[in-house]
Amino acid sequence: MRVMLKRLEIVGFKSFAKKTILDFPSAATAIVGPNGSGKSNVAEAFRFALGEQSMKSMRGKRAEDLIWNGSHSVPRASRAAVAVIFDNSRRAFKIDFDEVTIERAVFRDGTSEYSINGSRVRLRDIEELLAGANIGETGHHIISQGEADRILIASPRERREMLEDALGLKLYEFKKQEAEKKLIKTEENIAQVNSLRRELAPHLKFLEKQVEKLDKAENLRKELISAAQTYFSIEDAYLAHEKIKVAEEKMRAAENLATANKELDHITDSQSADSETMKRTETLRNAEKEVSELAAARAALSREIGRVEGALAEVKRRATRVANEPYAKVPREEIESLHQEIEKQIEQAEGALGAGGAEVTPEALRAALTAIRSAIKFFFTRHGAPRDDYFSEEENAAFKLEAERAELAKKYEEASDALGKAEVARAKAREAMVVLEETGREIRRRILDVAQEKAHQEGEVAKAEAREYELTVFAEDLERNKREVIAVAGTEAVVYEPITLSDQELKERREQEERKHKLERNKIRLEEAGGSGEDIRQEHKEVSQRETFLAVELDDLAKSAAGLRALIHDLDTELAKYFSDGLARVNASFSEYFALMFGGGSARLILEEPEPEVEDSLDESEDAEESADEVKEKQRAGIEVTISLPKKKIRSLMQLSGGERALTSIALIFAMNQVNPPPFLILDETDAALDEANSRRYGDMIENLAKKSQLIVITHNRETMSRTNILYGVTMGGDGVSKLLSIKFDEAVAVAK
Ligand code: ATP
Repeated sequence: MRVMLKRLEIVGFKSFAKKTILDFPSAATAIVGPNGSGKSNVAEAFRFALGEQSMKSMRGKRAEDLIWNGSHSVPRASRAAVAVIFDNSRRAFKIDFDEVTIERAVFRDGTSEYSINGSRVRLRDIEELLAGANIGETGHHIISQGEADRILIASPRERREMLEDALGLKLYEFKKQEAEKKLIKTEENIAQVNSLRRELAPHLKFLEKQVEKLDKAENLRKELISAAQTYFSIEDAYLAHEKIKVAEEKMRAAENLATANKELDHITDSQSADSETMKRTETLRNAEKEVSELAAARAALSREIGRVEGALAEVKRRATRVANEPYAKVPREEIESLHQEIEKQIEQAEGALGAGGAEVTPEALRAALTAIRSAIKFFFTRHGAPRDDYFSEEENAAFKLEAERAELAKKYEEASDALGKAEVARAKAREAMVVLEETGREIRRRILDVAQEKAHQEGEVAKAEAREYELTVFAEDLERNKREVIAVAGTEAVVYEPITLSDQELKERREQEERKHKLERNKIRLEEAGGSGEDIRQEHKEVSQRETFLAVELDDLAKSAAGLRALIHDLDTELAKYFSDGLARVNASFSEYFALMFGGGSARLILEEPEPEVEDSLDESEDAEESADEVKEKQRAGIEVTISLPKKKIRSLMQLSGGERALTSIALIFAMNQVNPPPFLILDETDAALDEANSRRYGDMIENLAKKSQLIVITHNRETMSRTNILYGVTMGGDGVSKLLSIKFDEAVAVAK
């Protein structure tokens, strides 16, 4: 077999004051020497280096007892140090080194230092490393002097532990303990997270409510914005419309007023037309004067004519007596005809005069006179030349009067014409006066009307201005209202497309009041709801995230707890399986060795009946959990040893002799080590109580055992020594220091004595 234990180095440990090195190059090594030389100290050096915590098992009370105490020649040491060096080329230890040095040092103050390959480590690291290589802590691989039957004396539960250790189940136990520790830690964490969540819950609930309120407020704000947009757009449209309307009205009224003013100015200007009246009056007066003058002239002419006619009548009456004399001889018709011819010529001349209104031209007058002269010449040619006495005085007077009368008649005619014309002119002047008066009245009436119109238009302008002012106030109110809404609901409330309303809608604006009330109400509600609550939302977000984080963490923890429980369960299952398998194999071996030692009989390890489960022990309290663990521990069945000796009937182990006890113990120890061989086994005078025959059997077993485990036997037994390859002698001189020497078998036999 390949050795694993290479070397032991001891400095300052117990009686080994000086550095002592023990090499273990072969499967079996014996350490021999006289009593009290320090052999057992070697076994204890192993215990010490491998982490033994029990001072008792190292035969000390305090740590100091382990340190070289000094002698008259060698001063005491301040520390004891032991290093065990293993070959790890097969990686029995789960670290990546071919050689593993496990070292422990203890100081006088009791502190220990552990190292693996020179690196400082914890005891726990040593334990785990050893457990991985099947070097257990219960020391089943180091059987101290007089402790061989420890396994027989031990309680069933301790025995079980020793067995588990020997079976190499410690590693699983470690794993399980670790998992359990982790589980406890995880459960603590779960409790902690749960408590954090519980702490967080009311705050989160509060924040959720706040956020709910904020959401409601946000909805309210949206509603408010929408309502405000509707309301304000209508009011804007109304205001714009009213402004235009009133501006138009005002302009119209101003225009009308201007027109009225202008007209009034104009009428006032034309009032100076009094001069026109005067002129007209003058004209009339003149016309009337002319008419009366012409009438008087004509009347004078009429009287003149009457006088001429009277005179003519008188002349004619007087001339009647001469009538039918010379003149009677000329027919009257011819005189008449002459007269007519003259008249005709005169008329023609006059006609020429009348036509074109021009003056009688000398040519026309001459032609008329020539015609008249020729007519008279003709008359006289027929009736002879006139005589001086042709006409009487009366007749001549009559002629003159006739001519005068004709002259007057003509003048009369002319006067009549002039009078007619004057009368026409007067009538016109009169008419003009009437018209003028009429116009005056019209103007006065117009002035009144226009003044009234002016007053009315002034009123209209004032009305429009009042309306303008009203609209200014309206606009200010609207702006204020908008500002108030913006303050609670944001500028969005006044962002909208301008609208136009029909005249009908503008007139009605029925729902605006209702809208305004609603707006006011919502504004107040929103104000009461407070600001945007960004901080609350932020906090809510953070707290929710924290809660989610905790929930996730809790989930993770729950999963890892479940994983750990499963692992623990699996380890339990494995442990139980390995344990029962191991137990069966140990029993087989135990029986065999026992029969070998005793030349027959049988021995068994049996599981105790577990203590019945204690009811009501599972309370809700934490104590209950502890007691549950205890209960579980108690329920782990202990191990009893039953034996039957050949030819003897014994009822208990107590009835065995010292040798028999030693044999039984050795059988059990060897069985246990056979099933799961440790890398090395140290047996300190396990063979002390054996007689010669049994010593041989013991020697056989040792040889057998050395095939699987490296053996270090401390012995005085010759037989045992003979079965080993290497022998170390330990001696102690007068200085109390143990010394080591490599010796031959014969020397050993001598040294051992
Ligand atoms: P035996 O064959 O009788 O079992 P042994 O060879 O096993 O004897 P040990 O018990 O190993 O002897 O050695 C005991 C010796 O070690 C004693 O002499 C004791 O004085 C010595 N010793 C023990 N502790 C110390 C210490 N701290 N300092 C000095 N010497 C010590």
